[in-house]
Amino acid sequence: MEAVTEPAPQNPKPLSAQTYIGRFAPSPSGPLHFGSLVAALGSYLDARVARGQWLVRMEDVDEPRCSQQAADDILFSLEAHGFDWDGEVVYQSHRNGQYQAVLESLIASGTAYPCGCTRKEIADSSLVGIEGPVYPGTCRDGLKGKSARAWRVRVDDEAICFDDRLQGRQCQHLASEVGDFVVKRADGLFAYQLAVVVDDAEQGITHVVRGADLLASTARQIHLQRHVGYPTPAYLHLPVVINDMGQKLSKQTLAPPLENAKASENLCAALGFLGLKPEVGLDRASPRTVLDWGVANWHLRAS
Ligand SMILES: [Zn+2]
Repeated sequence: MEAVTEPAPQNPKPLSAQTYIGRFAPSPSGPLHFGSLVAALGSYLDARVARGQWLVRMEDVDEPRCSQQAADDILFSLEAHGFDWDGEVVYQSHRNGQYQAVLESLIASGTAYPCGCTRKEIADSSLVGIEGPVYPGTCRDGLKGKSARAWRVRVDDEAICFDDRLQGRQCQHLASEVGDFVVKRADGLFAYQLAVVVDDAEQGITHVVRGADLLASTARQIHLQRHVGYPTPAYLHLPVVINDMGQKLSKQTLAPPLENAKASENLCAALGFLGLKPEVGLDRASPRTVLDWGVANWHLRAS
């Protein structure tokens, strides 16, 4: 008999490397549609394969467009599709105090500054970036007699790069492609970019899995993470579902709500969209069975 060599004991991984905390963060401005189901499913399967937690957060920071009814409908739909989330659902609309505290720390460090420019003054900028005019930095060095309307964050003249788990290496030069961006709007609401960064950090999110429509926001979020002193999670941006007109499915493009009675069929279609091939008849099984099959077969191919 040969002696079996014991493998050298490995240093235990730090807790942070063993823990996976993911999330699904819909905006409750309408019912769950197929595009949001794909994001829910992708984030859920990725978390469960890693034996991680999967949190649900309502991104209702843009309150006028959001409603409690829509949030309740989304949660009901998620349950009907067999999803089970960990912990309490977090609502951004309840967290203004946390966002304000982080804004104040950014002001104290000189990263955030007040902007007194009107929409028209900004639209007159000759620089055009990925989302329209690039803010020309008019108020960077003071309001010069204007009164504060919004709060912006100073960006740096360098590229921010990260390795997306599906889309590969991404780089964005914030100064020329976005400019100093708004973190608190003229109407007093906190901007999505700030809220999502604070929430991801405070909820301990280690892995963000979401639609590629948010790929262009990621550099701004990493910029904020670095300036607040938060860790940067791993990112995976899923392909976005588009309609026959080439538009992203959303309330604005009149995406039909999911029929909860067809949960297993919907899930199988979402698995198919993500490149998996559900076995024949799975769409007649229970939603839980479909999700379990998804966990057992989850993989992603770079597209
Ligand atoms: Zn300004």
